[in-house]
Amino acid sequence: MRILLKGGRILDPSQELDIAGSLLIENDQVVAFGPGLNDASADDVYDCHGLWITPGLVDPHVHLREPGDPHKETIATGTQAAAAGGYTTICCMPNTNPPLDSPSLVDFILDRSASPGSGGVFVAPVGALTKGMDGKQLSDLFALKRAGIVAASDEGFPIQDSMVMTKAMEFCFQLDLPIMAHCEDESLSRGGSMNEGAMSAMLGLKGIHRSAEEIAVMRNCLLSLHTRCQLHVMRVSTWGAVEMIRQAKYLDAPVTCEVSPLHFTFTEEAIGEFDTNFKALPPLRTRIDIDLLLEALNDGTIDCIASDHSPHASHEVDVPFEEAPFGSVGLESTVGVTLTRLTHTGVLSPLETVRKLSTTPARILRLEAGTLKPGETPVAQVTVIDPDLEWTLDRNKSFSKSRNTAFHGMHLKGKPVLTFCGSEIYRDALFGNHRFVEA
Ligand SMILES: [Zn+2]
Repeated sequence: MRILLKGGRILDPSQELDIAGSLLIENDQVVAFGPGLNDASADDVYDCHGLWITPGLVDPHVHLREPGDPHKETIATGTQAAAAGGYTTICCMPNTNPPLDSPSLVDFILDRSASPGSGGVFVAPVGALTKGMDGKQLSDLFALKRAGIVAASDEGFPIQDSMVMTKAMEFCFQLDLPIMAHCEDESLSRGGSMNEGAMSAMLGLKGIHRSAEEIAVMRNCLLSLHTRCQLHVMRVSTWGAVEMIRQAKYLDAPVTCEVSPLHFTFTEEAIGEFDTNFKALPPLRTRIDIDLLLEALNDGTIDCIASDHSPHASHEVDVPFEEAPFGSVGLESTVGVTLTRLTHTGVLSPLETVRKLSTTPARILRLEAGTLKPGETPVAQVTVIDPDLEWTLDRNKSFSKSRNTAFHGMHLKGKPVLTFCGSEIYRDALFGNHRFVEA
């Protein structure tokens, strides 16, 4: 089987490549690409004129809810949503029920994601840093790493005890295992449901002060500096947190970070009349924070973009604001929102956009992904993005089981239209039929 992606703009940050050209996939592998490439014997030809041909996208931060809450999401529905969102590799978080703290659960995730019906998308499990995610006793991280985790995390249950976190970092340094950290000092955030400030006072909601995030970011950056453990700070939201990370990088600490579209798009005012789709953790902040997040995306302090896809069932979201869970689904909106808010506005060039959505998260988590170089991924992982396609996000047209999105009804410019992951091909309904020639 030979598939030709013809006449697009090839963007591959792993090779600093931004050229006009075509790409050939043969027997599920990328075999060639370049300006002069033309293959009359291809079985299928996709006309990519005006489209970007990029390495398959990589999402470092996704909640698949399996095991434990299949009514919110399953590995099958989550990976289908990922393929529709342009992703070929996603990292799943350990705060499932039970948490991912044993090798058998890692096996379960890997088996399930490799089974038919999962869209071919690679799922890279992230293990629980502590047993039962209790924040006290470290999991058997050696066994978890051998089972296949790519990082360890305290997502959802941030480790409060600094000695436990120090031990975790020392041990993960020995294992050469990155830590993905949920940075929150719960003594400052407990019971809060939105950013603390004039808006929370007006709505009568208990606020979460920005210091709750910044103190934890600072602590974890310092521990990374001293232990040399690779630290990835998840979804930063405040300008202060960004400054801590900038300083840590300046001091040559092995620190990276991510931001989610929620946090670079909306301020706390989006909550309006207690709309629970905008209840995020960390909470949505202010205009100044967004301006500085954009600056940090532009100057590289923020390394990558993560969806933090957090599915919740309708009955769990349609409750008073204080009782609602945190988070929004994001696998199918992240690319559109990123292009609309960052690329078309000049914050990121097209090549930098792809770097933050693919090559850098793959590098941080040492995944065989994020590149078009033949032979460097187990199978071809290629995404085709129409940067100029205008569309409106409709939460009812989603592969995810959950509908809790902050982006419903938003007009977006840019959409992934083809996702190739080995023999699995996702073709968006908005990819024109005239563009596809089957031999
Ligand atoms: Zn999360």
